[in-house]
Amino acid sequence: MTEGILFDVKRYAVHDGPGIRTTVFLQGCPLACRWCHNPESQAMSPEDPVRTDGTEAVGRRVGVEEVMAEIERDVPFYDESGGGVTFSGGEPLAQPEFLAAVLDHCGRHAIHRAVDTCGYAPRQTLLEIARRTDLFLYDLKVIDPRRHAEWTGVDNEPIHANLAALCETEVRIELRMPVVPGITDTDANLRQLVALVEALPRRPPLRLLPYHRAAMDKHRRFGLHIPLPDTPEPSEEHLREIRRILTSSEIMVVP
Ligand code: SF4
Repeated sequence: MTEGILFDVKRYAVHDGPGIRTTVFLQGCPLACRWCHNPESQAMSPEDPVRTDGTEAVGRRVGVEEVMAEIERDVPFYDESGGGVTFSGGEPLAQPEFLAAVLDHCGRHAIHRAVDTCGYAPRQTLLEIARRTDLFLYDLKVIDPRRHAEWTGVDNEPIHANLAALCETEVRIELRMPVVPGITDTDANLRQLVALVEALPRRPPLRLLPYHRAAMDKHRRFGLHIPLPDTPEPSEEHLREIRRILTSSEIMVVP
């Protein structure tokens, strides 16, 4: 039986794709972004998850049937709102067999499927999942490779190459950029983002995700090092300015 490791399920989500959605958070991520909202989701090994209180593990093993039962509970909301299920994390592509099995089940029940990914996965995995997905929410963070490695712990070359390959398929894509003041919102990073998107085989729309300091509260709660103690949340005015810069290029910024 195919099993996966979840660390959370959020109902009635309205920012993870169209309509009202159930967001299923899978445990494990190959990145370690310093602004991560879900640091407790990063541990890759189910046997060694970050623990909330020294005894209770965050992630839990589930079978496909169990997670489908959670997803199907909300079908009336999906039907009314044009919603569906979104797989997030962690990094959902880090559990490809489980993800593919659940996506196939959702497909058989005509449930809209979104996958929220950092794009750091083997190309074959990404394309196999793309065949089973209606919408990709694809994160772009820091474009310069050296700075990306510094802030997330990994090289971004495979992420950019995977995005270009995904753009060659028919799957719908929404790009997402976390706006982390002083890190992703610099003039240089915005310029490089525009250049990267303009060079893609097609230009998906892009949504800005403002950084929230709540992430740091979680680091504190889990007894983790506080990586960005002084980074503020971006103001509305600052977000408007970034939108203006990006829309003056060929990028469509989702409101
Ligand atoms: S890719 Fe997402 S889940 Fe993974 S470390 Fe970065 S912010 Fe956290």
